[in-house]
Amino acid sequence: MTTKRVPEAYARLGVKPVINAQSWVTALGGSLMRPEVLRAMDEAATAFVDMTDLNLAAGKVVARACGAEAGLVTAGASASETIAIAACMTGTDEAKVEQLPNTAGMKDQVLIFKGERNRYDMAFEVPGARLVEWGMLGGAKPYQLEAAITDKTVAIATVFGPFIRRGLPLPELCEIAHKHGVPVVVDAAAEVPPMENLTKFIKQGADLVLFSGGKGIGGPQNTGLLAGRKDLIDAGIVNSLNLHSPRAGIARGMKVSKESLVGLVTALELFLESDEQSMLAGWTKKSTYLQSRLKGIPGLRVVIEGPDPNRHGPQPVLYFESGYQGPKPAEIRKRLLEKDPPIHVGGGGVRDEINVVMVNVQDGEEVIIADRLLEIIKGAKPAR
Ligand SMILES: *Cc1c(COP(=O)(O)O)cnc(C)c1O
Repeated sequence: MTTKRVPEAYARLGVKPVINAQSWVTALGGSLMRPEVLRAMDEAATAFVDMTDLNLAAGKVVARACGAEAGLVTAGASASETIAIAACMTGTDEAKVEQLPNTAGMKDQVLIFKGERNRYDMAFEVPGARLVEWGMLGGAKPYQLEAAITDKTVAIATVFGPFIRRGLPLPELCEIAHKHGVPVVVDAAAEVPPMENLTKFIKQGADLVLFSGGKGIGGPQNTGLLAGRKDLIDAGIVNSLNLHSPRAGIARGMKVSKESLVGLVTALELFLESDEQSMLAGWTKKSTYLQSRLKGIPGLRVVIEGPDPNRHGPQPVLYFESGYQGPKPAEIRKRLLEKDPPIHVGGGGVRDEINVVMVNVQDGEEVIIADRLLEIIKGAKPAR
């Protein structure tokens, strides 16, 4: 078997590359940047620029991509969450910007539907705001949201992601929020591709929308996007780019380097030009390959699922049903990590199924994954 060369930069540190069949997860490095992105970053590293000018120019590209009035490059979707809420709290009032994270005298509660709570949402609270849950898991009702809005409500946050129990449909949520003069912030960090999602949430009424730059867009892992209403983006800029003010602002620790700014813009432009159908076809091909290799194992049902709200891209999902005699899913996961290169698969979702996410699986790695799965499940030797 041909083994892939270990990049020298990792080898020197004694850190092993892994196969990422888990998706655009931060824990495994997000995504891989295309050579054009890396070249642009290299070039950016050879000259100084006025960082305000560069940020404003990059923000315009984000705005265009998202069909929004204005945009901003951030240090990741989490940074976007923080800057979005800071913007809603302070507007462009410099005194308020300098006061954060002390929110005395400001509206500082962010409503979020109970089912949309997630592992990243503390980022909304970083500027000093507090999340307040509304609704019931059994189903969101408009009157529940109406009742939850108070004179302390600064924004309504809403989240799209795998296995999130969504509250109200976005257009309905926005209608109620806007009736009360409250902005809606959409966390759609991992919702692209499809490309159309870049503009969808703004079209449906969101005041601000945020995405990761280092997931499906393929930019530097430490970048993100924030786009939406011009007054709110202006306020976000004061909270993050007031480079000459007496106090640096709540987002100082979330600055984006000139190289990353240029990298994100380049990745975003390449993403917009990319052929989505051929990208999907590539993931489908790897999926059907794995499905065919795993055929005929009693009790193992392999279904190709997605793209849908729960599964990024077409991907084979392994369901273990009655009659299955092989090792348990948890044991399979453990053993996938034991050899070199370790193989990380998806987190499952519904029950104890194993999903093999193809979006970051490099050409040829699907063969290694199939060999290893067969070896673990059937005790079979690799085919080659
Ligand atoms: C990944 C993710 C984030 C965090 O994104 P970063 O760009 O890594 O900061 C936030 N929210 C959701 C729903 C995510 O999937």
